[in-house]
Formats: sequence, C-alpha cells, structure tokens
Amino acid sequence: MKAVWITEPGSPDVLQVRECESPRLLKGHVRVQIKATALNRADLLQRQGLYPPPPGETEILGLEMSGVVVETANDVTGFLPGERVCALLPGGGYAQEVVVPAPMLAKIPDSLSFEEAAAIPEAFLTAYSNLVWLGQINPAHTVLIHAGASGVGTAAIQLVREFGATPIVTAGSVKKREVCMKLGAALAIDYHAGPFAPPVLEWTKKQGVNLIFDFIGSPYFEQNLQTLAIDGRLIVIGTMGGTLVDRFDLSLLLRRRLQVIGTALRSRTKEQKAQLTAEFWDFAFDRFADGRLRPLVDRIYPLEHVAEAHRYMESNLNIGKIVLRVSA
Ligand code: NAP
Repeated sequence: MKAVWITEPGSPDVLQVRECESPRLLKGHVRVQIKATALNRADLLQRQGLYPPPPGETEILGLEMSGVVVETANDVTGFLPGERVCALLPGGGYAQEVVVPAPMLAKIPDSLSFEEAAAIPEAFLTAYSNLVWLGQINPAHTVLIHAGASGVGTAAIQLVREFGATPIVTAGSVKKREVCMKLGAALAIDYHAGPFAPPVLEWTKKQGVNLIFDFIGSPYFEQNLQTLAIDGRLIVIGTMGGTLVDRFDLSLLLRRRLQVIGTALRSRTKEQKAQLTAEFWDFAFDRFADGRLRPLVDRIYPLEHVAEAHRYMESNLNIGKIVLRVSA
C-alpha cells in the first residue's frame, strides 16, 4: 500500500508518499480501505520529532480515518465488507489501509461524504469527552471555547448547543468569528483587540463562565481563572501559546472552588476510547444524519499534497478541519 513517511524530523518537505507493507489482520480487528484522513496539530509535532507515537504503534502519521471495510477477523461480528466506517487511530491514517480493533469503529450515516466523516473522530470525540466526561455540562452552563474556529472548537460549539447550553468563543479573524456565530456561538470575541476577560465578564453579567476549553495555555491562564464562575472548570486541551505559568496564587482556586483539569485523548486506554466511541455515536449518529451536527471541512488535499496541507495548518488560517483524500 501507499503511506506517508517522515524521512527525517523536520519541515513539511520531509513527508513522502512511499510503498510499504499493508498491516497484518489481527484477532478482533477489521481491515479498512482508507478513503480519507484528517490533519491534527499532533501530526505537526510528530513530523518534527517532538511527539513520538505510543510504544508499539505505527510510525505512520494519522490519528483518524474514514473508509470501507475490506475484511474482518473470524471472531469479529457486527461489521461486513463494504460498510462505511470511521475511527480514531493511534497512528496509521495517512495510508491506503489500516487494521483497527472492531470496538473502535463506528458506522457512518449515508448523508456524510468520506471527507466529512474523516473530520469527525478527533475533533468531536475530544469535544464530547471534555464536555461530558470532564465538564459535566448541563443546559444552564455557559462555555468559553478558545480558538473557536479550530477543528475541535467548531465541534465543541455545536455540541454545547446540542446539550442546550450556551457557547461563547474567542477567534482571530472576522471570518472565523462569523463562522462561529453561524454554528451557534452567542458571542465571538476578537482576542487581538484586547484581553478577553472583560467582554466575557460583561456578557455574563459578572457571573463568569462555567467551563472553559483552552488550547492556548500559559498566556491565557490568569484571564481564564478570572472569567470562571464559582465551581467553574478550566479544561486544558492544548498549549499552543506556551506551557509555563510564572506566578500563580492558589487562593484563587479556593475562593471560587475552581478546578483546573488537563486532558489527552491519545493516551486514554483502548477500552476508554472504545467506550467513548460507542457513547458518542449513540448520541450523534442521528444528529449527523439529519444535519443538526456537521463536521466542518475547510480544505481537501490529495494524499500526495500532504506537505502543502501541513503548511496550511501551520498558517493558522483553517476554519474547521483539513482533510487528505486517500482514494476516490
Ligand atoms: P486547528 O484547527 O489547527 O486550529 C488552531 C487555531 O488555534 C488556529 O487556527 C488559531 O486560530 C489558534 N491559535 C494557534 N496558536 C495560537 C496562539 N498562540 N494563541 C492564540 N490562538 C492560537 O486546531 P485543532 O486541530 O482543532 O486543535 C486545537 C488544539 O487542540 C491543539 O492545541 C491540539 O493539539 C489540541 N488537541 C488536543 C487534544 C487532547 O486530547 N488534549 C485532542 C485534539 C486536539 P485563531 O486565528 O483564532 O487564533
């Protein structure tokens, strides 16, 4: 099969499409012909040698895919050749075939293209697990989502709305803020125009928000705590702006009973990922089928143009997901 290889750690130019062996079918697994995969920030780090795959997993990039079932191991029930599926992967998505544990697979509604389905697993499962498992979201909640137009952000806005709660966002351009408002954000803040805490506090009538999805890290830490309501939770999902916080007064947490929670989908156990996949698709299948939820695909590149796709993500211009088409 063809797959994208990292020839050496470095810039997008180190990515090359090469021939390699298809993975072996294992007990309890399903072989899928990949139709599309999508980019994640983790891929950019892995390409630079800064985020190695978990021990025992493939070196091939790609944390999600959609495709068609080719064959199943003898002990697998519930999947048949020809069925359209998608899944989270520990790696191996930038390739023509992948072998996946059956409980990690989800069937996809006919209304979704393969490119749309490939854009779902990382963004939506990250958003869902953080809203439901860690955030204990309820309809009375206001949720502040930073980088609202990102892949995870655009999924989170829609899920917050589906849970009957109120999403507000920060985003870096007029176009990004317009898209966030169309997806259901009640307020979209231009963080380039000044600190985000004053508009959040003004909009919440000084109550603050119940939950924050943060991808930025240290530059936002102090303001995040200032904007949380009593019993509020700050969920640290990414650290694109930095990891070190200089001075931090713990009494802030005590006074308003705040929680700071770190999260990583990739390091969850296979069992947790399978449980999350089943729970999420039970919630989301009909909603994707009738359009209440939709994966936002910004651009689609052929697999051979993977370097260009990485450069586009590094430009911070994408609204929603960047997808690689592996086969038509
Ligand atoms: P994405 O679609 O590539 O969007 C990222 C956006 O973040 C950029 O377009 C930019 O939008 C904003 N941004 C980037 N650097 C920034 C900075 N220094 N300060 C402020 N804003 C900045 O990203 P994604 O794939 O959705 O991923 C979002 C984050 O979630 C990443 O950090 C990723 O690693 C993380 N993630 C974590 C998990 C987990 O399990 N913990 C899972 C998936 C993703 P603006 O123009 O609006 O600034």
